[in-house]
Amino acid sequence: MKLKDKVSIVTGGSRGIGREISRFFLSEGSDVAVMDVSEKEGTETINFFKHEYPDRKVVFYNSDVSDFDSVEKNINDIYYQFGRIDVLVNNAGITKDNLLLRMSPDEFRKVIDINLTGTFICCKAVSRYMVKQKSGRIINISSVIGIRGNAGQCNYAASKAGVIGFTKSLARELASRNINVNAIAPGFIKTDMTEKLDARYKDKIIEMIPSGRLGTTQDVAKAAVFLASGYSDYITGSVIKIDGGMAI
Ligand code: NAP
Repeated sequence: MKLKDKVSIVTGGSRGIGREISRFFLSEGSDVAVMDVSEKEGTETINFFKHEYPDRKVVFYNSDVSDFDSVEKNINDIYYQFGRIDVLVNNAGITKDNLLLRMSPDEFRKVIDINLTGTFICCKAVSRYMVKQKSGRIINISSVIGIRGNAGQCNYAASKAGVIGFTKSLARELASRNINVNAIAPGFIKTDMTEKLDARYKDKIIEMIPSGRLGTTQDVAKAAVFLASGYSDYITGSVIKIDGGMAI
């Protein structure tokens, strides 16, 4: 087991990529706290996990990552409940796609608030404990859209490019405390987020992917396990693309 007895927090962990990362972490021996906005799906997910991994501790916190007070309160609670925090995965994210001329300031702000400010808020809340422990792993879920851009996604691309700059800066701040901070930039992964895309658009995307297929949540979760584990001890400030070669 690569994460035996670790304590991990996964934001947006009740669905999609975050759910799969939580599942992989549990199967590798970590306890997991899922933080998500949907009470119903979050509760269903952790009930499923409790059944599948009865030896592991798994808890759900109904928390909006863009709400500083709620995140701080919940992360303090997780620390006192588990006694440590080894891994934070900032996965919660949204899209509100529109061409710039049609995009409202609110659509822009909301995406930045959750995807970028939410990452800042969660990192700020856990890093206090990781610094005290002199160890920790932070994994920020960015996107290849933050590297190459995409028409109709100025807000999303800006938030995900911001996550990359944030990751590199925080990696420099925390490396001497034995805390590694890395980002994963997925390409197009089969989840509810990409399910809403038009079928013809999806075919076009697949044509642009050298591997010839969309990614799976497992493809991303395996990289998250690697970055959370001892196999990546000397890796910090990196961005790992999981995109089948799409953004080479
Ligand atoms: P998803 O299926 O839409 O799941 C996102 C999860 O985040 C949901 O459980 C959602 O809750 C939760 N969430 C949304 N806003 C939140 C908030 N303010 N606080 C806490 N939780 C919140 O998305 P996904 O496809 O798994 O994507 C996960 C991450 O990977 C995102 O950061 C996304 O940008 C990134 N990514 C995805 C792809 C892809 O192709 N799917 C590609 C590149 C990057 P609700 O269910 O209640 O909304």
